[in-house]
Amino acid sequence: MRLPHIHRERCTLCGECVELCPTGALELRGTRLGLTAAECVGCGACVPGCPEGAVGITGNTPC
Ligand code: SF4
Ligand code: SF4
Repeated sequence: MRLPHIHRERCTLCGECVELCPTGALELRGTRLGLTAAECVGCGACVPGCPEGAVGITGNTPC
């Protein structure tokens, strides 16, 4: 299964993707966005939901 990759240099920690994720796989952890790979179902909702274009699904390596 493909997992999203967060381009951290673009992420503003706005939290939009956290709200969009149906499984709670994304969460703000202090000054970074965390992905719990075991909770991600690869739906891709977080990719277009990021206003900064910071989320991509380009490989199988978790962020
Ligand atoms: S691909 Fe889907 S399940 Fe995985 S982090 Fe993004 S919104 Fe959540
Ligand atoms: S939507 Fe984009 S900018 Fe906002 S927290 Fe998620 S990855 Fe970061």
